[in-house]
Amino acid sequence: MTKTVILASGNPGKLREFNILLQQVGFNVKPQSEFDVSNAEETGLSFIENAIIKARHACANTGHPAIADDSGIEVDALQGAPGIYSARYSGEGANDQTNNQKLLDALKDVPEKQRTARYQCLLVFMQHENDPTPIIAQGSWEGRILEKPMGDGGFGYDPIFWVPTHNCSSAQMSKEEKNRISHRAIAMQSLMQKIRGL
Ligand code: IMP
Repeated sequence: MTKTVILASGNPGKLREFNILLQQVGFNVKPQSEFDVSNAEETGLSFIENAIIKARHACANTGHPAIADDSGIEVDALQGAPGIYSARYSGEGANDQTNNQKLLDALKDVPEKQRTARYQCLLVFMQHENDPTPIIAQGSWEGRILEKPMGDGGFGYDPIFWVPTHNCSSAQMSKEEKNRISHRAIAMQSLMQKIRGL
């Protein structure tokens, strides 16, 4: 029997990706918007706290199991910033370009070797609102912040994220390749293994 699981996100790309994977284990993934669930306020201080807040909110408002993700970029020279604030790093009205510029400015005097960074993705699966043991999966993707943007694919920080294993920025990779090796791909594979083991 197919079971409904709610995705605590309105992103159609994420919905598609989760459906491809979770259909293999008998789940039909539906977006929370289909149940008129508003976005939860992300008041946590870490990726995992925010992912749990979002998953619990979706469970509570639909009565179904839910999946939520939280992701961002962590820069070592900035003690992990922008981290959970990646989407809104440059403040009110932030967009990819203003966020990237703020990060480049913050690292203006930082030499190449110290520009290490990684994308993080945290995924949470909760069976119900009061689930005391949410399933948690994490994926990270190591790289370095460039001194100027390169490439025009991807989104977010991709034009300034150098991928040493591929000798290019993540904005210069094909969508397929990025989807194969990214923080999100690693976290999704790990979550799938854990759900299979339920
Ligand atoms: P979300 O949690 O998936 O909405 O991601 C939060 C923010 O992290 C995004 O708005 C981006 O700024 C950044 N981010 C997360 N994943 C990626 C990625 O794969 N490439 C570039 N930026 C990303």
